[in-house]
Amino acid sequence: MKLKGAHPGTVLAHTRTQAATDHVTAPIAMSTTFARGEDNALLAGVDYARDGSPAYLDPEATLARLEGGSRALVFASGMAAATAVFMSLEPGAHVVVPSAMYWALKGWILRWATGGRLDVDVVDSWDTDALFAAVRRGKTRLIWLETPANPTWEVSDISAAAEIARAAGALLAVDSTAATPLITRPLELGAEIVMHSASKYLNGHSDVIAGALVTKDVSPLWQRIALHRRGGGAILGPFEAWLLARGMRTLAVRVQRQSRTALALARWLEAQPSVTRVRYPGLPSHPQHDVAARQMRGGFGGMLSIHVKGGAEGALSVASRARVFIRATSLGGTESLIEHRATAEGEGSVAPPDLLRLSIGLEDEADLLADLERALA
Ligand SMILES: *Cc1c(COP(=O)(O)O)cnc(C)c1O
Repeated sequence: MKLKGAHPGTVLAHTRTQAATDHVTAPIAMSTTFARGEDNALLAGVDYARDGSPAYLDPEATLARLEGGSRALVFASGMAAATAVFMSLEPGAHVVVPSAMYWALKGWILRWATGGRLDVDVVDSWDTDALFAAVRRGKTRLIWLETPANPTWEVSDISAAAEIARAAGALLAVDSTAATPLITRPLELGAEIVMHSASKYLNGHSDVIAGALVTKDVSPLWQRIALHRRGGGAILGPFEAWLLARGMRTLAVRVQRQSRTALALARWLEAQPSVTRVRYPGLPSHPQHDVAARQMRGGFGGMLSIHVKGGAEGALSVASRARVFIRATSLGGTESLIEHRATAEGEGSVAPPDLLRLSIGLEDEADLLADLERALA
């Protein structure tokens, strides 16, 4: 028995879970500090949880493996992960970002870049010629892609962008939130860094805000990113990390089901007279369907958008009649969501006013279809 002969107050003060090897699910690693041996060496290789909690080991190891990367880091949010990349570039670095991408991140980049922090060009990244023209050889440090891109689901060609980046001496980073590591593996297509909002499909239950980065190599940029996470101090809590690891266990079955239902609904929606356009990479009518078919494996994901007759008013009235789809932002959960992006984004939004974004959940396909039929009637 440890602490033999100690008083109750001492025993209570040392209450902790004993190391165990027979857990089927991981314990929640709440400890902020980790012991040293008699030789003063760290027993678990870590001394303080801000530097990297054991709670991160499961999700980080799994993500690095899924993406085919050498290292992964989890962050307090997708935004924390993405902004860590931009903040770790040299001051004044030239970066190219897509015109269609996650609204809050684009807004942050454009505002943060001012005052000489970054030199940003915005380009239609799915147009490979336009991307090529925007990149400056020897000057561009980073090409950022998001594919499929929120909320209009343009698909950018990762291999072509990687080629352009390599020729210019730049790195390619990809926000792969919507595709998940099961459908697209950007590192295998030439990207250096993959980013996920783990708040979405990875966790999958709309109850954790988290983010992740996975790198191909431990580059100088990656080392600065790791320094940023350690020193910046805005880290993921161990309970959130545990929930994330729990959610990730079912990622494969969720994504498979959500992709299948989304494709069926997209096909049905395309035939509806009150729907003027369906945006889904899995439809042959999608402008980059051939790139999507090459780059996305085993499905096209659970996200789609529709344009409806009657402009913003028509879209809001369709959303108002939904009963199974919940009117809420975010994506990738078990429940289907419907959202008028122009309202969510607010002033300055470039989302088409007649567009509704649908995140397909795990409900029965027939119930979702009936709900859309009623909403569109
Ligand atoms: C949600 C989201 C983000 C931001 O992630 P948070 O976890 O909300 O901070 C970034 N990119 C995409 C594509 C997203 O959907």
